[in-house]
Amino acid sequence: MFLQGKTALVTGSTSGIGLAIARALAGEGTRVILNGFGAADEIARLCDELNATHSGADLTDPAAIEAMMAEAGPIDILVNNAGTQHVAPVDAFLPEKWDLIIALNLSAAFHTTRLALPTMKAKGWGRVINTASAHSLVASPNKSAYVAAKHGIAGFTKTVALEVARAGVTVNCISPGYVWTSLVENQIPDTMASRGLTREQVINDVMLAAQPTKQFVTVDQVAALALFLCRDEAASITGANLSMDGGWTAA
Ligand code: NAD
Repeated sequence: MFLQGKTALVTGSTSGIGLAIARALAGEGTRVILNGFGAADEIARLCDELNATHSGADLTDPAAIEAMMAEAGPIDILVNNAGTQHVAPVDAFLPEKWDLIIALNLSAAFHTTRLALPTMKAKGWGRVINTASAHSLVASPNKSAYVAAKHGIAGFTKTVALEVARAGVTVNCISPGYVWTSLVENQIPDTMASRGLTREQVINDVMLAAQPTKQFVTVDQVAALALFLCRDEAASITGANLSMDGGWTAA
């Protein structure tokens, strides 16, 4: 239990990648604060399972983030993971969808990070782990806001890493390819509609077309990398954009 005594906030951890990271951190003794939306009984079950607390803050709202951070108190491990997707050509991209994705996938990480860093620096130890994406390195059509936000979080990660490099705080992002979660499942209908494809074609010819392994990344693989970044052995990994994409960005 190498993280006994540490506190972690994992945004967007009521499902998918964030939940797997929260489980991995809790398994090493971390006091976990969950965040995200979902059915109240399911969230209560997760809190019981992980001995965690939960903030339902809407991370598109900076005031809600400030309130969440004040309530959370000092954070040792900050995982900026909450994110959403919208698929449409840029000239048909709804401005409110653009604003939502930039707010949640990019600006929320700025707000949580700026509020968490002072106590990390004071303690001389901290970990900031941002869930970016292969789309922080390469683009796909119809994902302008998502690709812009993910390229942005990669740049933000590098900048903050340099700022705190001598303070015992590492700042990295993990860039998965397609991970099988509800976020992926939910974009299948839109992609079917926008490209005129069947469900099987979207999975095999669009999603896994880019992934040379032809396998979805698993949430547990991403969580294992996040956990490694919390180890002392990972103290020299900072400012990195760690790909876990089945070879996608090697192509
Ligand atoms: P998911 O839909 O399973 O989880 C998203 C989480 O964010 C949920 O807990 C949800 O409640 C929460 N959330 C949504 N809107 C929110 C808001 N306004 N405020 C607070 N929380 C909110 O999706 P996922 O696939 O686990 O995605 C997690 C992260 O991983 C995202 O940043 C996503 O871009 C990234 N990612 C996913 C994939 C993939 O293939 N699934 C690949 C690369 C990167």
